[in-house]
Amino acid sequence: MLEPLLEHKQELAARFRKGGLIFLDYDGTLTPIVDKPELAVLDPKTREFVRRLAMKFTVILVSGRSVSDLVEISGVEVTGFVGNHGLEIKIPGLTFIHPQARRTEPVIAHLCREIRSRCGHIEGVFVENKKLTASIHYRNVLKAELSKLRQIFRGIVKPYLENRKIRISQGKKVWELRPPVQWNKGNAVTWLVRLFNPRKELPVFYAGDDRTDEDAFAVLKGTGITVLVAERPRKSWAKFRARNSEEVIEFLRSL
Ligand SMILES: [Mg+2]
Repeated sequence: MLEPLLEHKQELAARFRKGGLIFLDYDGTLTPIVDKPELAVLDPKTREFVRRLAMKFTVILVSGRSVSDLVEISGVEVTGFVGNHGLEIKIPGLTFIHPQARRTEPVIAHLCREIRSRCGHIEGVFVENKKLTASIHYRNVLKAELSKLRQIFRGIVKPYLENRKIRISQGKKVWELRPPVQWNKGNAVTWLVRLFNPRKELPVFYAGDDRTDEDAFAVLKGTGITVLVAERPRKSWAKFRARNSEEVIEFLRSL
């Protein structure tokens, strides 16, 4: 059972007196989900708050976006950025890109071109090439057109899936094309926790709203303060639930 985050605000906040490691998913956690990904900018108040939070704690933004996109759209200086679902990590003095993911870049680029040219007539499809991965957004596609889109999409990616050239995962009204490696937000978080919290003395906080955040919740199970951001309860590896980004921010303000 997920417990309401705010009901445990005081006892949890007390654990952050000597610092802490704070992972925040971006879309849907710090910003509301919007129709077009380029509109998901941080409101100035939240941006200023996150900037100040990062002066006191190690704050890392996590996203399915590329790091460069995440840096630009968030517009906030924090300790680090995890992009492309963990395949890219940027922290002071280090930029990591998963080598296998780099090798898959041409395949992803090719598939993006194919999908654009063969699905372009279906209104509302948005193909976002993030280099190491790609997102095929269908939030704005009419219901009646969706099965047609799904059929064409499946036809295009099928041979690549069969030859294990790529993987596909399902996000919120989005298909993600990913390299065929088992490396996700959970792996990136494990790596960063070892780096920033080697003696395990600091509390680790992670808030996210997507299925891809479940990998991070799972690796932090038993040790971290994990928060699913969701209007309604659902099955999750997280320990706590916040109903929306406002509740997450309210909790963080108490630190
Ligand atoms: Mg999200």
